[in-house]
Amino acid sequence: MMQSQSSKDALAPDTEYQVVRSETPVWDDGFKIGEPTGMIQCCGCEKRALNIDEIPHDPDCAQRWAKTDFWRDRFNAD
Ligand SMILES: [Zn+2]
Repeated sequence: MMQSQSSKDALAPDTEYQVVRSETPVWDDGFKIGEPTGMIQCCGCEKRALNIDEIPHDPDCAQRWAKTDFWRDRFNAD
């Protein structure tokens, strides 16, 4: 059975959204490689934004509805 690296299972607990981590050196974008950039990326359509409610989902993205207080609280805790 093959394991897909990018799960398309929208019901998986941690695949709805992911924290975007820097893929470039700190002198390039201000973040070290692997450091969270503060951006959140939708795992459905791969669109990203600073606020989960502002992600410009694709029209056919399965997660367009996924705007929840859970995520808002989690990422705006500070
Ligand atoms: Zn999406």
